[in-house]
Amino acid sequence: MVEHAQERADAAAHADADGLTDVVIVGGGPAGLSAALSLGRARRRVTVIDSGEPRNRTAAHMHGVLGHDGLSPLVLLERGRAEAAGYGVRFLHGEVEAARVDGEVIEVDTANGTIRTRRLLVATGLEDVLPDIPGFRDQWGRGVVVCPYCDGWEHRNDVIGVVATSPRSVEQAQLLRQWSDRVVYFENVVGAASGADLERLVSRGIRIESGEVTGLRIEGERMTGVEVDGRVIDVGVVFTGPTLRPRDALLRSLGASSTVSDLGDWVDVDADGRTSVPGVWAVGNVVNLRANVSVSLGLGSLVAGALNADLVADDVAATLLAA
Ligand SMILES: Cc1cc2nc3c(=O)[nH]c(=O)nc-3n(C[C@H](O)[C@H](O)[C@H](O)COP(=O)(O)OP(=O)(O)OC[C@H]3O[C@@H](n4cnc5c(N)ncnc54)[C@H](O)[C@@H]3O)c2cc1C
Repeated sequence: MVEHAQERADAAAHADADGLTDVVIVGGGPAGLSAALSLGRARRRVTVIDSGEPRNRTAAHMHGVLGHDGLSPLVLLERGRAEAAGYGVRFLHGEVEAARVDGEVIEVDTANGTIRTRRLLVATGLEDVLPDIPGFRDQWGRGVVVCPYCDGWEHRNDVIGVVATSPRSVEQAQLLRQWSDRVVYFENVVGAASGADLERLVSRGIRIESGEVTGLRIEGERMTGVEVDGRVIDVGVVFTGPTLRPRDALLRSLGASSTVSDLGDWVDVDADGRTSVPGVWAVGNVVNLRANVSVSLGLGSLVAGALNADLVADDVAATLLAA
């Protein structure tokens, strides 16, 4: 009862006389929280709704983030939430499945009811769809990883396995050669590398293992080898290329346009983060597959500035109209 009264009081503080909040942010990862911090400091009424499954949640440490190298990604988010809350940002836990644009107002359905907002910022990230190989899901973020800049240094000079998932995996193997001269390229179901690809792999001393990868060797908690054709090849880590699936159902349900390229089908945003749907913005991995933590933080801040300027323009227009 007390809790509900508190929720109603919080909601009231986050709405203007018309019952409108300024910005609802769906997704509280680095991109959404960075935007929330800037918008809170800009004295905007902001509600963040988050389902609590950031992409890098299985990794114990985060790397390459200036000032936070080696920090737990979950601790970064905890600090971010506390900082944003200090400027009045409200947080709700839950999954947003539906929203509607009604003229200049956007209605966002939450477990606690519908929030009416002037702008919606979607920062829902992406899902890594892993190859269906036993052990990969369990080891994700530890023995099986994706990003050389995040985990390459920790495995410098180690035996690095690259389990191919597409012809682009050849590039991943070449990149990893920068961190170790003991790289093993597992052709897996992609099949034999040939022509220029083969020549380039061989030229850099990358060992090639043919055959389908059927599992991993785990000792204790640690991944120590890759099973292929009934043999186990010793490796210290596996890099692989998951299919990147943006969590963009909300944006698509609102009719946001998208563009298909050889990297997939991604919702369109302009340089400021505007989608094709008026009032609906997006930032981070949901619209940008290259947004690591630093880029997501930076873009969150950039988009928040543009979004606030957009609201200021509306405020000026409304004041002129009323004069
Ligand atoms: C294993 C692994 C390790 C990584 N290590 C590093 C590293 O060391 N350094 C680095 O820079 N990058 C690293 N990354 C990349 C990093 O995870 C991403 O760059 C970053 O998470 C992108 O931030 P984001 O805010 O766009 O999305 P996310 O962090 O994924 O946050 C999105 C949030 O939105 C929520 N959400 C989704 N849908 C909904 C919905 N409908 N309603 C409500 N909430 C929703 C999710 O629960 C999540 O909390 C790693 C990635 C992986 C997979």
